Amino acid sequence: VGDSKDFDSEAKSVCPFCGVGCQVSVKVKDGKVKSVEGINGPSNEGRLCVKGRFGFDYIHHPHRLTKPLIRRDDAPEKGLNVDLDNIGLHFREASWDEALDFSARGMVDLRSFYGGESIAGFGSAKCTNEEAYLFQKLIRQGFKHNNVDHCTRLCHASSVAALQENVGSGAVTASFNEIENADVAIVIGANPTENHPVAATFFKQFAKRGGKLIVIDPRRQTGLKRHATHMLQFRPGTDVALLNAIMNVIVEEKLYDRQYIEGFTEGFFEFREHIRAFTPERMSDLCGISPEMIRDVAREFATAQRGMIFWGMGISQHIHGTDNSRCLISLALLCGHVGRPGTGLHPLRGQNNVQGASDAGLIPHVMPDYQSVTDGSVRDLFRHIWLGTEIQEKPGLTVVEIMDRVYRGSIRGMYVLGENPAMSDPDVEHARKALAHLDHLVVQDIFLTETAMFADVILPASALPEKTGTVTNTNRTVQMVQQVLPPPGEAREDWKIVVDLARRIGLDWDYDHPREVFDEMKMSMRSLHHITWTRLKNEGAVTYPCKGPEDPGQSVVFGDGFPRRAGRAQFTPARVTPPAEMPDDKFPMILTTGRQLEHWHTGSMTRRATVLDAVEPEANCSMHPSTLRQLGVAPGEHVRLTTRRGTLEIMARADRAVAPDMVFLPFAYVEAAANILTNPALDPWGKIPEFKYSAVRVEKVEGE
Ligand code: SF4
Repeated sequence: VGDSKDFDSEAKSVCPFCGVGCQVSVKVKDGKVKSVEGINGPSNEGRLCVKGRFGFDYIHHPHRLTKPLIRRDDAPEKGLNVDLDNIGLHFREASWDEALDFSARGMVDLRSFYGGESIAGFGSAKCTNEEAYLFQKLIRQGFKHNNVDHCTRLCHASSVAALQENVGSGAVTASFNEIENADVAIVIGANPTENHPVAATFFKQFAKRGGKLIVIDPRRQTGLKRHATHMLQFRPGTDVALLNAIMNVIVEEKLYDRQYIEGFTEGFFEFREHIRAFTPERMSDLCGISPEMIRDVAREFATAQRGMIFWGMGISQHIHGTDNSRCLISLALLCGHVGRPGTGLHPLRGQNNVQGASDAGLIPHVMPDYQSVTDGSVRDLFRHIWLGTEIQEKPGLTVVEIMDRVYRGSIRGMYVLGENPAMSDPDVEHARKALAHLDHLVVQDIFLTETAMFADVILPASALPEKTGTVTNTNRTVQMVQQVLPPPGEAREDWKIVVDLARRIGLDWDYDHPREVFDEMKMSMRSLHHITWTRLKNEGAVTYPCKGPEDPGQSVVFGDGFPRRAGRAQFTPARVTPPAEMPDDKFPMILTTGRQLEHWHTGSMTRRATVLDAVEPEANCSMHPSTLRQLGVAPGEHVRLTTRRGTLEIMARADRAVAPDMVFLPFAYVEAAANILTNPALDPWGKIPEFKYSAVRVEKVEGE
């Protein structure tokens, strides 16, 4: 990093990638970020992973959008046919006034002609809390409905549904740092060494000091496996069978915490009867784990003084994702592993501000702080705060449902802020056709994303180091980000663009600073009680809930009961449901998707970060060496992957962590977009697609 002569200015910010929320110091020289180093934030204690340390220069990439763009009248048909060499064929530069007027006029015309529900909005988990709040307010107030969502629908919507149902709150019950107080920890359906690397360092330290680390995943998890006391590589899609079998042992051997169950839960007796059928012997063949291992894990977890459960999208991205999460909640409740130091439930949140965007109401069935739109008193509260605005009682549509309505033509306009459904939706060819159908698409982003290629107007926005506001990490910690440098060219901070657009569609908005938005959020969000802009500015981070103006916040919650009726959490039995499609003669293998250490989500940022792209430049999939041998494919050669949705060709790698009947496919590469293949079948409660399981055929690409 060098001494202070090496840079002109320095500011504190938060890493823009994952939900760990590492605090960073960003050093600027000659108007450009020169380096980033970790500082002593509550979640990272000075540590950073490769993305946080070396992934910053995407903000200076020549592809940054620096002027508003409007689709030309004589542009070619909409599609993924735009590149930087022919951008002028499709779009012309416009002034901000013209672009904002054009954006607003298209929305207002649709509203007048077809009604407000002809327009929907996708906000972003990469924006600040204030921007997420303003975005959902614009849709709800400007168009009088709740059809506004964001990428939480694609990552942890099912976890949130189960947590809200059974413990009364969608956020984690304990920070991941609490693992230092635990005796045993289960990490299931998550690959933290790649996806939450700084959190993984705490997990490894826990194991090194003798903590029992139980890793459960269909992939063998080379990163954490070396530190694990138990590694259960179970059959994909059999989560409920395995977890119910573990709980069967705890029930049959009476290892459960009777006192805790009597004091803090409801539904135990029905649950106990339900679980009796799931003996380890009966479930063993289905999930591929021996009865002895199931018993061992059950005893380790139940007899420990303090246990935690961490999970990722391997749990949530199934049509039974909510049932998977219900099982994990029941497991923790059975053992009394909630509400004390070293205990808790922790879905590892993905994007840097997916927790905050969800808290801020960027969800179709709830207002800020998860207050249901169906509750009259909630609607009254917002009618009061939003000066007479009537909130629609009907819950809105989710991401995949909205794209389906777009495809069928009942939604004709969209405002997309920082999301990339042309890459992130399941069965993405369907989503791309839908986007091409839109009469009016406004995209606000920092790059010409695949979604922006379908836009009628593109509004150049700001990256995280270019804005001021607050973000909330996976630990419920609200952190302040300070503007490190201004957005490039004519690009603007996102909150300013949303405000300008709101005014043009007729809303009487008057905000001059994100602080004013934060203060308005506090009027309806009890979670922000005792958290002020000044505190955040001075302290950098405060965790909610917060007991007083001096309290740094509660790392562990629900020690004295749950925010549910009678203060009790609930056991909800879960049945075994097979994946929506199973392998057969035509599609004999299982496709699962995920992330890689160096790349982030749809790759729009990390593939433009020099170091990260140099380390991992090419689209790839991974298979077991024996599978490659059977196919006659050498590592580095290409295979063709085909599902019922589509086909793509991609370089194959050998990886012993992947089971012989599986293919692992990262989803960051547009040239081999994983979601061409994935299944849009939805979990009925969380409405999350089954990204983690599709039936696939794999063939060698001949001629290599
Ligand atoms: Fe950024 Fe997550 Fe890495 Fe921390 S662990 S540096 S937040 S990507």
